[in-house]
Parts: sequence; C-alpha cells; structure tokens
Amino acid sequence: DRFLAAIAAMPATTPPPARTQDRTLPPAPAPRGTFDNAPDTDPSLAANRAWGDGIRARMAGSRLGIETAEAGVVRDAAQLDALVAETVEAGATWRALGAEARAEILHRAGDVLERRRADLLEVMGAECGKVLEQGDPEVSEAIDFAHWYAEQGIAIARIPGATPAPVGLTVVTPPWNFPVAIPAGSTLAALAAGSPVVVKPARQARRSGAVMVEALWEAGVPRDVLRYVQLGEQSLGSHLVGHAAVERVILTGGYETAERFRAIRPDLPLLAETSGKNAIVVTPSADLDLAARDVAASAFGHAGQKCSAASLVILVGSVATSKRFRRQLVDAVRSMPIGMPWEATSKVGPLIGPAEGKLLGALTTLEPGERWVLEPERLDDAGALWRPGIREGVQPGSPLHLTEYFGPVLGIMTAATLDEAIALVDAIEYGLTSGIHALDEDEVQRWLAGVQAGNLYVNRGTTGAIVRRQPFGGWKRAAVGAGTKAGGPSYLVGLTDWEDAPTST
Ligand code: GLU
Repeated sequence: DRFLAAIAAMPATTPPPARTQDRTLPPAPAPRGTFDNAPDTDPSLAANRAWGDGIRARMAGSRLGIETAEAGVVRDAAQLDALVAETVEAGATWRALGAEARAEILHRAGDVLERRRADLLEVMGAECGKVLEQGDPEVSEAIDFAHWYAEQGIAIARIPGATPAPVGLTVVTPPWNFPVAIPAGSTLAALAAGSPVVVKPARQARRSGAVMVEALWEAGVPRDVLRYVQLGEQSLGSHLVGHAAVERVILTGGYETAERFRAIRPDLPLLAETSGKNAIVVTPSADLDLAARDVAASAFGHAGQKCSAASLVILVGSVATSKRFRRQLVDAVRSMPIGMPWEATSKVGPLIGPAEGKLLGALTTLEPGERWVLEPERLDDAGALWRPGIREGVQPGSPLHLTEYFGPVLGIMTAATLDEAIALVDAIEYGLTSGIHALDEDEVQRWLAGVQAGNLYVNRGTTGAIVRRQPFGGWKRAAVGAGTKAGGPSYLVGLTDWEDAPTST
C-alpha cells in the first residue's frame, strides 16, 4: 500500500526514461516491439512498469486540460471574429521574430512536451482511451515534430535566392485519434513557418489538445499567437473555415470533411490528410511469424481507430491456400489483451464511442462469401470494448474491400499472384499506407513500383510513420490539397508564400 501511495503521489512532471522516436540519424533505434515479452527481471522494464502504473493510477481522477478547454469555448460569431482579428494582429510580431528566434522557442516546446510526457499520457488515456503502449510513441512523435519543424523553419529561410513568407493565419483541425501528435505537428509546422495559429481540437480530445497547447505556451509561444478554441455551436465551424482572414486550413480527418470544407469555401487553401483503407500483402516468401505479428498490431492497435491501420490482408499463392497464416494471425490477435487504458495489461483499448452505423454492421454482419475466422464480441455494456473481428472470403468490390470502417475489423482477401494482389490494392480509392511482407527482393520491387499509396512499408506494420525518416501523407483520396508529407522536408513549403520561387538546378 505504501508503494502504491508513493506512486500515486508522484509529481505530474516526473521525467520518464528519455525515448523519442528518432533523435539521431543514423543509426535507426532498435524498434520497441509491441509484443515485448522480456522477463520481469530486467531492471529498466521494472522501472518503466512502475512509471506506467503511476500514470494509470492518475487517469481516474484526471482533470488535466479542463480549464484551458473551458476557457477556449467560443459562443458566437462575433466572439470568433474578434478572436480571429486579434490572432491576425499578433501574427505580425511572431513573423517579425524571424526563423531563428522562433526555432529556439519550438525546440523549447519539444523539451516541455518531453517533461510533460506523463501528463499527456494521463490525459490521453483518460479522455481518448489511449493505452500507454500507443500513447508513449505518440508523445515522442510530438516532440520530434517540435525539433524537426524548428530546424526546417531555419532551413527554408536559408534557401538561397528565395524569400519564404509565412502565409498568415492558419487554422488547425485535428482528429481525436492522435489527440497529441497530430494537433502538435500541424500547429508546430505553421508556427515554424511564421504564422499565427487557431487550433480547434476534436470535441472528444479537447483536454488532450489543451495540455499540448499549454506546453507550447509554457515554452514561450505567445498566447495570442497560438489560440485554443472549442466551438460552442456547430455552425461556428463553417464560420471559422469560411472566414476570409484564414489563409490555410490544416485538416486531418475524413474525406467527407475535406469535401464539406471545400463546399463552404471553394478556394480554401487546404492541407488535408484524409481517410485510409490500407492493405498488407503477404507473399509465400514472407516470414509468416513476423507478418502475423505486424498485421495484428497494424489492424488492432488503438482498436483499429487509425487512418493508417491495416484493415485488409491480402494472401498470395500458397499463403492463401494453406491454413497456417490464418492460424498464426488469430493466435497473434488473441494474445492482445483488451481493456481500458488504466488496466496494466491492455493492448487493445476501447472505441471512442459505442460501435454504431457502418462499423456496427461490419462487426455483426457478413457479406456473401465471407465467414468469421475470429468472431467479434462485445465485451462491455457500453459497447466500447470489442474482441476484434477477422473475416475471410472478402470479395473484390465488396464493402470490406473498399470502405474504411475505422474500427477493430480486418478482412482477408486472396490472390493467385502478386500482380493480382497489387490490383486489389490499387482498386481502393484511398491510398494512405500500404504494406508488404516478402523476403524476395524482386517481389518487393514489383510491389513498390505498382502500388498506389503515400506511405509504403516493407516487412513492418503500416502504422507509426517516423518524423524525418519516413514522413506521413497520402495519395488519391487520402490527401486533399497540397499533399505534402507531415514530418518531411517539404511540409513547410505548403505553409509559406514564395516571393521568388526556388529554382532547381
Ligand atoms: N501518423 C500516424 C501513423 O503513421 C497516422 C495517423 C493516423 O493514422 O490517423 O501511424
């Protein structure tokens, strides 16, 4: 009991073992496996476990971010207009600071995010159902964004013969599923480019977004340059997106939302990463143990609520005709404990809301030709916790082949050849991520040349893009607007105006 009391009393800012995604390049850091079953005797694991237990214990009574979220509520159009005008005005001082001074503040933001890692994990678990194993790399990604965009702000300012100017007021509308990394990345990029920002975190993630914004304020980003808002009424969303003073909108969300934004304002300069329907191809040359593990983690990490999640696996040739891979996959998925983030063993957390509509249909109804390899099961009264479902016999052109469900359901398709498998992938309208498991180099090269998706992953899962090393962005209906990749070298180009366009030599 004394031990538990000591853990519960841990200060909110206890620094964790340092671990960002990718501080130094090369070499690449050893991957922290999702299926990390190292023995309990490892002292660093024991320390990690005690640290994690402390955070989980704090989730129940968490009040982090509430004050900022409440203070950020905008009630009517007049209040929103005033806020927009003030932010535009404050933007002039931020712009005048220059790239170097801004970068210094943004590097500091990375340090504050690192220091507040435990707080961010607490609020993400409490509010959005993020299990620590998912939240921890997400905080690392936010930290990496801070340092990366700080450097990039300086890099583009130094391109010879070009004068990049900040575009001006940028509105950031992130989703709830990456409640820290996505709002942080978009906001930090716009700030690094020299623009003031209005960020409107998703309603379900308002507190997580608030703690992220507090960290940036604490690092020295002025409060009138970075505004946090929640909209008191739905109609204010159109008012904000349609506002003439808004020069850019960075959206991460559904394709339909991007369409809606465009309908509000056809000339809206939009940087949007939208829906994904992502497949992993497994060929006979694959390491099937590795493939099963990666497919399971890509499909059911965060209960499949990721644009980057794999929701199809396409088995080629003998992998399709034998039962072996299916059995390994089911075993891998069964080994992922399902539970709330404050339970120590949870790997698959809750859905953000009860499954309904098309997701409920996908979890309860089969299409002709399909059967359950693993039948989904509702595990709680609220309908938040589900044993994941795997369906085989998914037919080309059927709903599971082409539709994004954003939840814990995976379809198995089969193909006689790799080319057939590639054609099945390319028939999908969205091209966000795509994966292959194959040890035959020729197969990998053919797949790389043929597959249409923004992020391609060879012999690993389809989630967890890495700032600087493998930036993130889509193709086809997975991207709308400038289509540059978050965490990559060209992202700030979409957030700046070029008085003299850079010329390539
Ligand atoms: N950056 C995330 C990843 O690579 C994707 C964001 C999303 O899936 O919504 O996993």
